[in-house]
Amino acid sequence: MAGEIIDGRAIAAEVRGDVAERVAAFGQRTGTVPGLATILVGEDPASAVYVGGKQRACAEAGMAAFDERLPAQASHDQVAETIARLNGDERVSGILLQLPVPAHLDGPALTGLIDPAKDVDGLTPVNAGLLCLGREGLRPCTPLGVMELLRHADARLEGAEAVVIGRSNLFGKPMSALLLAANATVTTCHSRTRDLAGVCARADILIAAVGRARIVTADFVKEGAVVIDVGMNRLSPQEAGNRSGLVGDVDFAAVCERARAITPVPGGVGPMTIAMLMGNTLQAAEMQLRAALR
Ligand code: NAP
Repeated sequence: MAGEIIDGRAIAAEVRGDVAERVAAFGQRTGTVPGLATILVGEDPASAVYVGGKQRACAEAGMAAFDERLPAQASHDQVAETIARLNGDERVSGILLQLPVPAHLDGPALTGLIDPAKDVDGLTPVNAGLLCLGREGLRPCTPLGVMELLRHADARLEGAEAVVIGRSNLFGKPMSALLLAANATVTTCHSRTRDLAGVCARADILIAAVGRARIVTADFVKEGAVVIDVGMNRLSPQEAGNRSGLVGDVDFAAVCERARAITPVPGGVGPMTIAMLMGNTLQAAEMQLRAALR
């Protein structure tokens, strides 16, 4: 029997609606409007689309949006100056440096300049450390979105075997840390993992973030597992079998027959990232206010 399809678009809309209500209540209580500043270096069309989506989501949630654009040839110091200015701007609760930055810039070094209290992507060393230590902090948006999808799918995490394919700082590592914090038994796989299919076939919860179209085939999946597909791979519409040409890391048609629940691509994890970013921006504003009152 085909598994339940986890509808990321619907869940993201619910999260965004909830954030909008909390933003309104926060404004009434404190007289403050949370604000998100995005920094885009260069004119990469895909990045420009992502930034536009974030700006629109802010407006919908009742938050202020600040749109910083720098030319593709901007120097490290120019980007650093922009970050320093936003760190000191009281109207800005959260700062997001759109990645990837042009090749001559060091993305992680620049991200590390963001005030950890405004690091709504949760990627600074301070927030990565707080996550590992199990302390309050801002968590990376995509793994946080996956946790929300798992909650909606009624996935039992306590004691479950969870396998994450991918160990990037952006997704795989924080995903594994969040699952561990939720008391799952976590295995993190990567390009040197031996018998990837065999390791994955043990998973009650299987999360794929590799960036290779349909690498996860039915033999990777235990009957009744919950499968989350983070991968976004661009093929021709004919190869993909859909108009967008977008496919995930999971062979959806085959895996759907074995999984209890599964996310589609598109329409699964993708929409959750912006929704969780809105939540993080509100959380940052709340934490900053608490710190100011201390
Ligand atoms: P990444 O930095 O390229 O990491 C890919 C990971 O996959 C690495 O850890 C790599 O292992 C591992 N890997 C590569 N080939 C493998 C193989 N044959 N077997 C097992 N593991 C393999 O990518 P990322 O930033 O984590 O993103 C992964 C995918 O998720 C991409 O498709 C990306 O577009 C998507 N993504 C989507 C969202 C969203 O929906 N909002 C957000 C983030 C990422 P090594 O470490 O050994 O190289």
